[in-house]
Amino acid sequence: MNTKIKFGTNEEKYYPEYMELVREFYPSVIDCEDGEEIFLELFFDSEQLKVIIKSKLLPENYYEINQKIDISSNNLAKIAQIKRISKVALYDVLKTVTNASLPYGSLTGIRPTKLFHDLKDNGLDAAKVFEEDFRVSKSKTALVAEIVENQSSVYLKKDKVADVFVNIPICPTRCVYCSFISAELSKVRKQVPLYCELLRKELEDCKRLVDETGYEIRSVYVGGGTPTSIPDEDFRSVLSLLDFGQVEFTVEAGRPDTITENKLKIMDETGVTRISVNPQSFNQSTLDLIGRRHTVDDIYRAYDAARKYKFDVNTDLIAMLPGEDFDAFRHSVDCAVALSPENLTVHTLALKKGSVLKVDGYDNASDEDAARMVDYAREAAAKAGYCPYYMYRQKYVSGNLENVGYSKPGKYCIYNVDIMEETTTIIANGAGGISKKLDIASNALERCANPKGLDVYLARGEAVSEKKRKFFLGED
Ligand code: SF4
Repeated sequence: MNTKIKFGTNEEKYYPEYMELVREFYPSVIDCEDGEEIFLELFFDSEQLKVIIKSKLLPENYYEINQKIDISSNNLAKIAQIKRISKVALYDVLKTVTNASLPYGSLTGIRPTKLFHDLKDNGLDAAKVFEEDFRVSKSKTALVAEIVENQSSVYLKKDKVADVFVNIPICPTRCVYCSFISAELSKVRKQVPLYCELLRKELEDCKRLVDETGYEIRSVYVGGGTPTSIPDEDFRSVLSLLDFGQVEFTVEAGRPDTITENKLKIMDETGVTRISVNPQSFNQSTLDLIGRRHTVDDIYRAYDAARKYKFDVNTDLIAMLPGEDFDAFRHSVDCAVALSPENLTVHTLALKKGSVLKVDGYDNASDEDAARMVDYAREAAAKAGYCPYYMYRQKYVSGNLENVGYSKPGKYCIYNVDIMEETTTIIANGAGGISKKLDIASNALERCANPKGLDVYLARGEAVSEKKRKFFLGED
């Protein structure tokens, strides 16, 4: 879609959300001064909202809807109604002028399942609202409904329940699609022991915090980065501090070349219950192209080694990687399913700011291929006995699709459901960690971010824990 667009609105505060939708229709060329103008105006009078959209691309250069707003609701709910109505109007206009539709309709947020839960909790027919009010396709509505149903055995919204997140933002090399803060090990090797020392202090403070707040910890998740890329002694020293009485303990090992016999032994001895061995692709030419610097044989070696222990294993794949067509992706899905991991997560490539692919101008906008790949993964997973149990969407994702976690029955990852549905408090540790405090009564979530990069984290030292303590306990 190469038409140039100049988008504007009289409600600047909603501009970013409107633009997300515009970008989904016009991923390549958008918002140019010399583009075709689409101008959206909102007028709110008493209970009535009028949305006017003017554009020469429209049959009569003009579109207008009038809808009643429920003014008995609180201010936030009123704003939500205004945004929903105006975004649906914009979606209808963009659909008319481009003759295209989006699988998730006017929804641009990252958590469709959370919205589905909220609608259900408010006594509404969530599937009907998805299809009729948000223009979500039948197939995606069914997927969201299925996920909400499947995750019900681990979905828990209860006061004083939390998860502990630990970030080790270090990787052996940088993948070309990566936009995380993760640093290459060769560049930060000297800082790793210092980082782990400060992280251990933060974890000891975290333990005290958990005792004082009375949170029940249901899961611990060590992510990154690639936590298994750091030296064995540092790795053990961090993991041995992570007994919070949780029922699930995940280490996102990820890169197969870092999963050694020693690392597996350390994870086993420290009580880890779930790890990931992430191929992303089973095609060597793709692995070379995306900067993973490991082989397909490494994937099988790591997987076989992990299978000697009792861990549940997750494997990640990415659809629409550079150089891959449908057959290449199908091969990866078939290989992953043949290994029979407890969890299989299928991502759709998102071109995020800061990634090498984005800087190089790689185009992932082929909706047709992306949809075929994702549909194939869904069918193959279902045939092999997996069910979808969590999902999220990202900005700039191929085909406006989603990432879906599949699981063998009863093997759902608690942390993935908690973090995506925002049903628990998260106590985050390490550089880049973001703690989230949930107030069940108001459904409000407050955030407290740790410093992002290793350098800043190290420079702040123990002030990181103090800030978090104040956030959770309100202390000075
Ligand atoms: S393994 Fe993950 S965090 Fe590390 S560079 Fe690749 S995408 Fe980024």
